[in-house]
Amino acid sequence: MKLETDVLIIGSGIAGLYAALKVADNLKVIIVTKKDKAESNTNLAQGGIASVLGQNDSFDKHISDTLIAGAGLCKREPVEILVKEGPERIHDLINLGTRFTLKNGQLDLAREGGHSVHRIVHAADLTGHEVERALLESVNSKENITILEDHCAIDLITEHNVYQLKEAVINNRHCWGAYVLDVRDNTVQTVTAKATILATGGLGQVYLNTTNPLIATGDGFAMAYRAGAKLGNMEFIQFHPTAFYSGSINSGASHPSFLISEAVRGFGGILRTKDHNEFMSKYDSRKELAPRDIVARAIDNELKKRGDDYVYLDVTHKPAQEIKEHFPHIYERCLESGIDITKEFIPVVPAAHYACGGVVVDTVGHSSLEGLYACGEVSMTGIHGANRLASNSLLEALVFAYRAALEINRKVTTSKFDIPQIPTWDESGTLSADEKVMISHSFREVKQVMWDYVGIVRSNLRLERAFNRIHNLYLEIEDMYKKTKVFEEILELRNLITCSHAIIKSAMMRKESRGLHYTLDYLKTDESQEPHDTIIQNRIP
Ligand SMILES: Cc1cc2nc3c(=O)[nH]c(=O)nc-3n(C[C@H](O)[C@H](O)[C@H](O)COP(=O)(O)OP(=O)(O)OC[C@H]3O[C@@H](n4cnc5c(N)ncnc54)[C@H](O)[C@@H]3O)c2cc1C
Repeated sequence: MKLETDVLIIGSGIAGLYAALKVADNLKVIIVTKKDKAESNTNLAQGGIASVLGQNDSFDKHISDTLIAGAGLCKREPVEILVKEGPERIHDLINLGTRFTLKNGQLDLAREGGHSVHRIVHAADLTGHEVERALLESVNSKENITILEDHCAIDLITEHNVYQLKEAVINNRHCWGAYVLDVRDNTVQTVTAKATILATGGLGQVYLNTTNPLIATGDGFAMAYRAGAKLGNMEFIQFHPTAFYSGSINSGASHPSFLISEAVRGFGGILRTKDHNEFMSKYDSRKELAPRDIVARAIDNELKKRGDDYVYLDVTHKPAQEIKEHFPHIYERCLESGIDITKEFIPVVPAAHYACGGVVVDTVGHSSLEGLYACGEVSMTGIHGANRLASNSLLEALVFAYRAALEINRKVTTSKFDIPQIPTWDESGTLSADEKVMISHSFREVKQVMWDYVGIVRSNLRLERAFNRIHNLYLEIEDMYKKTKVFEEILELRNLITCSHAIIKSAMMRKESRGLHYTLDYLKTDESQEPHDTIIQNRIP
């Protein structure tokens, strides 16, 4: 089937929905989304959105906090845009019906690590869920927007598909839409568009342990890479030090681990190995209160040294009543998983949480392919540098989705579009049930390799080993993909492999430790040269 639209948006998290709302009413918008329209990273976001709204705050302070967190790699221009345009976007969200928590009639501003003042607007501890609800309600009321659920984008349409090129034409390449799988009946639709926005979120599912939902298989990064767009700083993956260890991997995908907030360590929680020994005093005099990356590395080291899957976080020495009062949500969630945290230790692991790099875009969200825009977690605007400041990601999605939509309104109404004849998807191919076993096995293999060799602590040897393993998997799966009638799992696996390749390749290019990239072979940041981004581009998609 063929569908034509002015704007195709891939993804229905905060970035995709907000962009759709800002596209002009006279333009037709199609949003395709992989599963249920609310299933997204956005829906899980707890803490809130950072913005300068408090009396003792200033743009300079937010800019400075963002630059410090980014370890020398943030770009000043987009950071200034983010900070200065942020308050207007928050007020717009409120006008769209988002109910943020108030205190004495004013927005209740919380404070998080790395922020010098209180500036986090939130809706209790379920901010993302509330934002997603409000945006979906607004989108549903717009006649020019159609949402197609259970529609998984396969690949972007470029010169490569149209002219069957053997080599990628890297310069002056266009994006004319995407091939999309209707997961309900496994048919492929050709959706052509004058502008395409990737808003596909993160890639946490690349790793064995992650806080990201099942949809976060990095499809947008992989589609863009295959189409020849530039990806930047893919090595900077933020790990949260303490996520609940559930140990469950179902048909290859890891169910998201819920966060055990830093406040539990602040409350006196002690980290212990599986045989109950405290270990943080060996790593840092601040013990459990050391910064996130130090705690994550210490846990990672203990796990690797001992071959364990998790460590414990212990609050059993604190009065039960106090635990329940301070952490009602965590208490309930752990209880549901069979752990009474007033009497038992909590099994925890660091977990992949956020991708700081992504599809390289300019200050209006435009990528290196004509007609392709990216916003939200899949993009690299230059704001996060080598480490994201907490609660800047939802703000980034809002500010740059808005800018991308305005740019598209301008371009679509002022330019002439000549979309060539697009070939329909080749649906040939068969796959037997036996081969499907290979898919779930390969899923686990990718996640294990990435967790063991390309996680929190890296080295040249580990990266090389991971590169070779992932390359072999790539060859196997590409061969299978070519012979197979597409289905969702093979698309996701292929995307996980492409993302793994991009992360490893970028990590190998960075010959220093900086921000979230920590390697045993270059323990320090290289001060002898200017801070630089790692940019990769696929030459033969
Ligand atoms: C547990 C948790 C807590 C967090 N807390 C905060 C916080 O407090 N503050 C903050 O700023 N950030 C937080 N973050 C990060 C933040 O939530 C995300 O970065 C942000 O929500 C990303 O929004 P997005 O619109 O880019 O992507 P998402 O919200 O992830 O949406 C992606 C969309 O793309 C769709 N999609 C993906 N692939 C395809 C495909 N092939 N075809 C069709 N559709 C596709 C998905 O179905 C989904 O609809 C948190 C993240 C997690 C996981």
